[in-house]
Amino acid sequence: KSMTTSQIGLAGLAVMGQNLALNIAEKGFRISVYNRTYEKTEACEKRAKKEGLDNNLKGYENFKDFVASLEKPRRVIILVKAGAPVDATIKGLMEHMEKGDIIIDGGNEWYENTEKRKAMVAEKGLLYMGMGVSGGEEGARNGPSMMPGGSPEAYKFIEPIVTKVAAQVDDGPCVTYIGDGGAGNFVKMVHNGIEYGDMQLIAEGYDILRTCGGLTAEELCIAFTEWNKTELSSFLMEITALIFGKKDDQKDDGWLLDVIKDQTGMKGTGKWTVQQAAELSVAAPTMAAALDGRFMSGLKEERVAASKLYTDTFQLPDPGPIKGVDKQQLMLDVKDALYAAKITSYAQGMNIIRAKSEAMGWNIDLGGLARIWKGGCIIRAGFLDDIKKAYDRDANLKNLLVDEFFAKKLAEKQKAWRQVATMAISNGVATPGLVSSLAYFDTYRREKLTANLIQAQRDFFGSHTYERLDKPGWFHTVWSDQN
Ligand code: NAP
Repeated sequence: KSMTTSQIGLAGLAVMGQNLALNIAEKGFRISVYNRTYEKTEACEKRAKKEGLDNNLKGYENFKDFVASLEKPRRVIILVKAGAPVDATIKGLMEHMEKGDIIIDGGNEWYENTEKRKAMVAEKGLLYMGMGVSGGEEGARNGPSMMPGGSPEAYKFIEPIVTKVAAQVDDGPCVTYIGDGGAGNFVKMVHNGIEYGDMQLIAEGYDILRTCGGLTAEELCIAFTEWNKTELSSFLMEITALIFGKKDDQKDDGWLLDVIKDQTGMKGTGKWTVQQAAELSVAAPTMAAALDGRFMSGLKEERVAASKLYTDTFQLPDPGPIKGVDKQQLMLDVKDALYAAKITSYAQGMNIIRAKSEAMGWNIDLGGLARIWKGGCIIRAGFLDDIKKAYDRDANLKNLLVDEFFAKKLAEKQKAWRQVATMAISNGVATPGLVSSLAYFDTYRREKLTANLIQAQRDFFGSHTYERLDKPGWFHTVWSDQN
């Protein structure tokens, strides 16, 4: 083995770890790698050799040699399954690490686990960070978006590396220090929640176009390819266009999408985001709709039976193409509806982060966050630059919906949004993301809601009292003789 020490170590060489390690080596940093099962370490070394990066990457079989190969203060990124595997890896590292060394968990970890571990390793003088990494396999290899949070002293030591390894956009690398404690993990979690919402909205647009509009796969592919060149441009739009254009590789003809079972998987970050939104009393209907959509997709057998019941017994068939529909107009409307709903969804995500940041004292810069999401990550989108600018204009912006740029956009697009929602509802195509986003918009922009009635009801049955619009104070009314 060479005598030169490595500048950084990476433990956990599954999909994410291997690709990030190769990326780090490619950027000119010497990296040591380790995996619980040695085969993956060998596989990683082999890939490094094949790509001509073996001068910068070396594998180790045990924690002792791995840790000993690192220059001080030692920096180790962990990329294993969240939970107990992270604890096991930390334990192995800590046996050989010393005061001042730094552990960075790059997995999708629950933010509170990071806070506990940070305190735990601090007892031995070690520094700890939780760093969300987005962009999947491809991002990890070629430039992810990274959301490091935790010990600010530790960030100084990884900054030169992560800024080179991250995706690069017009205004810098897609990485910035997020905040103390579990801030990095929290923000990555909400990123995934936004991802759920975005995917749901795109899927609803697809449903309206294919079901009500009768668009063919070719037409869908062309539409999404075109839209991806506009203000809707985003990674998810781009891959969706490619998905529409993919032939079934197991048959002579037909589209692959048509034979994929309509039942989603999930790993939990979307659910955590919705739970956190509720904990923080922040409305997040788009993400909640996306989560519910995933739950209900899982009821495939029940849905098949229900469809049969309503079709056979009550002559209420599944929705189908609308006769004489103006496809061109429908496409224009769906495009506008998608844009408006997506902005509404990102607005909810940003507000969850702001509320948590205030509660935890994390001081998260929402504009900076929008900037590092411009590249590398799954929710990267052209309009994130406009979101960044909105927070640059006003760092305390209460809601993206009232930023001058987005308010103008939404005012322009709300009519199309309503038309799409109306068509979907009247034809029985469920679009909970589009519709609940619209309800969020309509609720938020309404001066006077119906909470007066709810307060009256609460006072009626529970003497909860109410406030009046015309004078201060709390009031109670005897609403009825029978009460
Ligand atoms: P993964 O499938 O989540 O985890 C596999 C890795 O965990 C392997 O290195 C495995 O080691 C290790 N591991 C499992 N149990 C262990 C234990 N008890 N002790 C020690 N090591 C253990 O890998 P991944 O998909 O690359 O993801 C890594 C992290 O990044 C996760 O937190 C994931 O949520 C996050 N992430 C993934 C993606 C993605 O696109 N895949 C994107 C963003 C973030 P062995 O080889 O020995 O089994």
